[in-house]
Order: sequence, then C-alpha cells, then structure tokens
Amino acid sequence: MITVEDLRVRFGSREVVRGVSFAVPKGGSFGMVGESGSGKSTILRALSGLNAEWTGRMAVDGIPLTPRRSKAFFRRVQMVFQDPYGSLHPGQTIDRALAEPLLVHGIGDIENRILRALAEVALPASVRFRFPHQISGGQRQRVAIARALMAEPEVLLLDEPTSALDVSVQAEVLNLLKSLQAARGLTYVMVSHNLAVVAHLCPKVGVMQGGELVETLSAEDLRAGRTRHPHTTELRSLSVELEDPDEEPSGPAHPGLGGSGT
Ligand code: ADP
Ligand code: MG
Repeated sequence: MITVEDLRVRFGSREVVRGVSFAVPKGGSFGMVGESGSGKSTILRALSGLNAEWTGRMAVDGIPLTPRRSKAFFRRVQMVFQDPYGSLHPGQTIDRALAEPLLVHGIGDIENRILRALAEVALPASVRFRFPHQISGGQRQRVAIARALMAEPEVLLLDEPTSALDVSVQAEVLNLLKSLQAARGLTYVMVSHNLAVVAHLCPKVGVMQGGELVETLSAEDLRAGRTRHPHTTELRSLSVELEDPDEEPSGPAHPGLGGSGT
C-alpha cells in the first residue's frame, strides 16, 4: 500500500532524512521509532503531503506521489498528530470538527455519520457539542482519530498519537487504533519515541537515528531483544512499558520491552 524509496529531506544545507526506504502492505502497520530529532515526523510530513520539499520515490497503492497532492489523495491518506490541539480548533465544537472533513469532501448524511463516528471511537454522544478544552486528553485524541476517519481514508499516518496522554490512557487509545484497523482494513505508519508503543501495534518496526533507518526488525525480535544495531538496543533499554488496561494490575507484566528488572 505504501512504498518509500531513498527518501531525502533537507532543511537548508542539512539533510535530516537521509535515504530512507520502507514498504507497508495493505492493512499492515509499520512502526518507526527513534529519539527526538531523528527525522520521524519529517518522513510522515513528506508522505502526507504537508512538506513538498523531498526527493526519492514514494507511492500509495501503486500511485507515485508528486510534491503536490490531489484532494483525492488527502481523502485517502490522513494524519493524526501527537497533540490533538494541533488538529482541533479550540473555538470549534467537536460536532463542527467532525463535520468539516465531510463538508470538504462533499460527503452527505452528516448527522448520522457524526453519531456513528463518536460511537466508533467509544465517545458518549454528550461530547458532541462540547469544545476541545471541555473534554479529557484521551477523549480529545479519540476525537482527532474520529475526525481523521470521517472521510473514510485507507491510510493513517500516526505521529506520536499517544505520547501526550497519561500512561494509563495510552494503551486504551492504542487498542482503539488496533480495532479500528481490523474493522476498516486500514494501513498504518506509526511513529513514536517509545518502542513499547510501536511494538504494541506494529509487527514491523524501523529504527531511526540521525535521519537514517538503521534497522528494520519484527516486533517479536524487538521484544525478545534480538536486535542487531546498537542504537536499537539502546532505545530498548530506555523504553517505558505500557500499562495494559486489559490486564490485572498485579498480573504478569505486559510483554513490554527492556527497562526495569532485566
Ligand atoms: P522527530 O520527529 O524524529 O523528533 P523531526 O522529523 O521533527 O524529528 O526533525 C528532524 C530534524 O529536522 C530535527 O533536527 C529538526 O530540528 C529538523 N527540522 C524539522 N522540521 C524543520 C523545519 N521546518 N525547518 C528546519 N528544520 C527542521
Ligand atoms: Mg516528531
């Protein structure tokens, strides 16, 4: 569904994405981890069409991407950001935020679609006429996800979608993303500085360092510590485990990554 080959992005004289290549099958998820400044968001911005200054080859569903994208492209490929305040206008009700993509893409049946969207992300209908600051951070991110899905895209580009949330809410939102993917057959690229977050959702994980993808491995190998590149090992040891809401608090730890006690 997504192919990226030798992607390069420079800001001034500095190349911050240095020949990155990866592919994601339809309905699959590719995770990208790496420390702050390693180029993760820049890759997503180039892929999503937010930044037209790149070289290399990218394609979605076999269609080569050009710097400028069509409206149809923006319907098929949506981005979700770390901070839902970035995508939700503070002066707009949730209703308005959810209606907007429908208006942009000329999709009707607005009332029903909004109610269905709220239900799909497990939000009560009562949030509909609230403003972003009147709901919790986790609820805001659910709204941002619902909004991204309004025009029925096929690809979601998720940039640190849970990083601004309390640890207790992170796994809930990840589980929601997982079930939405299964229900809709979505293709994901998800970026996080936290390996456990990425491994929770993505069977394949790419490790970014200084603008390069230094290792691509399976989440399974990542969990088991079968890493090849020293930077992956380092990231793994710094990774914070998730709290899984489906597990007993005193039960066995989530098969998380590295960190304490190992
Ligand atoms: P990450 O998402 O992995 O934290 P980014 O992709 O945001 O990293 O940034 C990669 C590098 O590019 C950083 O050094 C950052 O400062 C730089 N950068 C990002 N956006 C811009 C921009 N618009 N102008 C100049 N430099 C930028
Ligand atoms: Mg970033």
